[in-house]
Amino acid sequence: MDIPSDIAQWQKGFATHSASETERAGEILAALIPSDTALLLEGKLGAGKTTFTRGFARGLGIKGDVTSPSFSLLTIYEGQRQLLHVDAYRLTQPSQWDSLLIDELCESPWNLLIEWPENVRGKEPEGAWTLTIENTDTDARQLTLKKT
Ligand code: ADP
Ligand code: MG
Repeated sequence: MDIPSDIAQWQKGFATHSASETERAGEILAALIPSDTALLLEGKLGAGKTTFTRGFARGLGIKGDVTSPSFSLLTIYEGQRQLLHVDAYRLTQPSQWDSLLIDELCESPWNLLIEWPENVRGKEPEGAWTLTIENTDTDARQLTLKKT
């Protein structure tokens, strides 16, 4: 299956039919998104946000595996760009974002991917893009990109 390689197609939306296709989508978006840009990953539990991030990391040439450890809010990976992966699932107050000191940690070139961005509303970095992942079937997901 072909993952679109132009942004207009991502904005229209497209479907993936397996976890590995969603990973591949992440890998491709890593090459399309500018550096020093945040990406908000919207979608319910099990939508594929971490799966997408795993592919995105691969696209940046990051070797280690991407996981969402239970008590880790932020993981930083070094690749062609620095990847900051935030899982905000357990944040109960957007103000807790401040204690992560993300602004201080971002060293250009970087990308910041945020799962559960609704938990940090109002704290999103300026110019962040949003990717929505919706379950349409057991193994099917609809991916739609919004640039701001
Ligand atoms: P989230 O981080 O959004 O909670 P995960 O990426 O951890 O979700 O989990 C997604 C789950 O859905 C995985 O078990 C994955 O194998 C499964 N899955 C099935 N089909 C797809 C698909 N098309 N895209 C992404 N994940 C899929
Ligand atoms: Mg996750």
